[in-house]
Amino acid sequence: MFNEDDIPDFIKAGKIAETARDRSKKIVKPGAKIIDIAESIEGWIKEEGGSFGFPANISINNIAAHYTPPFDDTSEIPEDAVVKIDLGASVNGCVGDTAYTLDFSGEHGKLLEASEQALENIINHIKSGINVGELGEIAEETIAGKGVRVIRNLSGHRIERNLLHGASVPMIKGYKGWELEEGMAIAIEPFASTGNGNVKEGARTEIFMFQRDILTRNLDARNLLENIKREFKTLPFAERWIIRDQQTFKWRLAMRELITRGALHPYPVLLESAGSRVAQFEKTLLVEKDSCRILT
Ligand code: MN
Ligand code: MN
Repeated sequence: MFNEDDIPDFIKAGKIAETARDRSKKIVKPGAKIIDIAESIEGWIKEEGGSFGFPANISINNIAAHYTPPFDDTSEIPEDAVVKIDLGASVNGCVGDTAYTLDFSGEHGKLLEASEQALENIINHIKSGINVGELGEIAEETIAGKGVRVIRNLSGHRIERNLLHGASVPMIKGYKGWELEEGMAIAIEPFASTGNGNVKEGARTEIFMFQRDILTRNLDARNLLENIKREFKTLPFAERWIIRDQQTFKWRLAMRELITRGALHPYPVLLESAGSRVAQFEKTLLVEKDSCRILT
């Protein structure tokens, strides 16, 4: 079940995401400011004619996912860091979602290989009619074969127009799920870890998504929610995109109201155990009859 009309938009979005991803590889290095990396990536997405699928995620070491810098972030990529860059470009709500990892320690080659090889093995097995459970088995076995762990509670996902996280594609063995069909767009992202293979939500949240309308007397909150719905629809956005140096306090209060009232869905940072390292490679794929087309 899919809409033919979505395919050209997914193809365009994939190309834009791929271009931004490949350009970013030149600027991600120890000492680089994290905010500069995020803003460069987002700038390239716009330059290529896309809109944001979600904020650029720059997740370091045991942070597995969902870190995007606040507007006043002054931090830099540390020496010896394992850095995940995850970005998304949207064309009319169809998102190309892609990620890669760089290891500046020189000590985690196997870890990166585990994630990248798992992704490649899955790509080689994708075809219409395959059960997603088979893909999870490939992920877990490939990663375990490299002597590290798959993160069990992070999954790939189907992508539909204006729905980044559709039906999930678990990356573990022993799961019987749904079947892929020709024309579906899916994102595959097996996470490999030197930790215990589980992520927990951290205290910080920089990424949110519209969840539902609420009634509020707070005019700022009402206006903000209307702006969020118009600009980002049902795709994730960064608090940084809303709270800039002008009127910071006012917008922070409005954001708090929307979050506590459940109008926004929060995506807290996801953490593996202290001292561990996490690698992630991700591509968006279009399922074909006997294989798949790589969109990013
Ligand atoms: Mn991603
Ligand atoms: Mn994804």
